[in-house]
Amino acid sequence: MSAFLTLHHQIEFGNQYPKNRTRTTSPMSFTPHSEHPGIFTMKFRISHTKATQGRSINLILSERGISALRLVGITDEVIKRNSTPVKGKMVHTEDGRGISFLTDGKGRSVLYSVLRKDLNEVLLTVAEKNPNVKFFYKHKLLSCCFKTGKFKVQRHDGKIIEESTDLLIGCDGAYSAVRRQMVQMLRFDYHQSYFEHGYIELCFPSTESGQFAIEADYFHFWSRKQVMLTALPNPNCTFTITLFMPFELFEQINTPEKLLQLFSENFPDAIPLIGKEKLVTDFFNASPNALVSIKVSSPPFVLSFISTFQNLRLTNFLSTLRFSQCSSYHVEDKALILGDAAHAMLPFGGQGVNAGLEDCEILSELLNVYKCDFRKVLSEFTKCRQKDAEIICDFAQSTYHVVSVIIMSGL
Ligand SMILES: Cc1cc2nc3c(=O)[nH]c(=O)nc-3n(C[C@H](O)[C@H](O)[C@H](O)COP(=O)(O)OP(=O)(O)OC[C@H]3O[C@@H](n4cnc5c(N)ncnc54)[C@H](O)[C@@H]3O)c2cc1C
Repeated sequence: MSAFLTLHHQIEFGNQYPKNRTRTTSPMSFTPHSEHPGIFTMKFRISHTKATQGRSINLILSERGISALRLVGITDEVIKRNSTPVKGKMVHTEDGRGISFLTDGKGRSVLYSVLRKDLNEVLLTVAEKNPNVKFFYKHKLLSCCFKTGKFKVQRHDGKIIEESTDLLIGCDGAYSAVRRQMVQMLRFDYHQSYFEHGYIELCFPSTESGQFAIEADYFHFWSRKQVMLTALPNPNCTFTITLFMPFELFEQINTPEKLLQLFSENFPDAIPLIGKEKLVTDFFNASPNALVSIKVSSPPFVLSFISTFQNLRLTNFLSTLRFSQCSSYHVEDKALILGDAAHAMLPFGGQGVNAGLEDCEILSELLNVYKCDFRKVLSEFTKCRQKDAEIICDFAQSTYHVVSVIIMSGL
């Protein structure tokens, strides 16, 4: 689901659908509501360019996300046709060994490496078939008011328009404008932390005979003391390589010699796979992107403060405190955040898109269960989703450390 989305029981909004739009690379999509034809959905997004800056080219789809895709009629065959199957992780040790870990224990491929733009294409094709969905490209949400349901959007021509909605769903990524508005409200906490590493993307081209340069059916990791390289296969037999390292190190690596030394010391086996010349060109053409983690939750000190004083019968005082820790993914029956807007996570577990798609599946179920009573749906969504999302965020963080520990322990 990209950008933000408004749900209306009935509204007219003028048709600004671009005639010759190109597809964007943002991956998620909302489950269309064919069962609830009274609901009118509009999707707004900033761009409709071919490539999204600061985003990985490909990503891993797992059952968590695939299950949501099935719900909107995207079959396993379509996923397989548009992806490269992956059966597990392969960790590359300093002495050049590759240690494999099968995801389902039996060696079956249960993960799929998919190009962002292909996934997006498939999702848009499905969404376009739903007559209740209208798309507005190059529309940037500037502000919204949860009391009145009014929101301001800047169009591609600079014109600012104001509209109103019954429910605003922010799927506008880690730097969400909808969440920004929520945070300005009383009693809304969230935690944002930057990983000390940035990342750039490089590539293992296919071999001269057009084959994959290394085993295609693994998510590859080279984890070293300060730096990490990962590789995911693409349908054209190339690998997208992601180099993670501290921002200061990116700054220090300012000559081809320093870069080749870094690779010789840490990833000697990757140099011939990329090619020296290509490595230097691609590295110096890229600029590192930041990795941010978002949790919408109560700060731990408030919780421990409450539990410490729980027995002191300061009921009124405590209820005020409890109130003040009442963070959530929603505002009454007016607004909701999904995907990275609610729970951006580090990419090492390959779960960000998958968790966002799972959000859509859960939301869709709740809309059915509570017959589109937005107030019940939204509060139930926060209740059942917040803890899970936090755990997935922690899992993503710990995956980085687990892979490092495997390397350090010399397995
Ligand atoms: C290097 C890397 C590798 C990754 N690998 C994986 C992986 O293997 N598997 C996986 O599941 N996840 C992976 N992820 C995570 C994944 O990319 C994110 O979780 C996912 O893109 C989140 O989708 P989203 O739609 O919530 O947000 P985004 O993809 O960030 O989309 C947000 C959209 O909102 C639009 N927008 C922003 N602000 C506004 C505004 N004010 N008005 C209108 N529109 C707006 C943006 O233009 C964009 O189109 C990876 C991430 C990184 C950085």
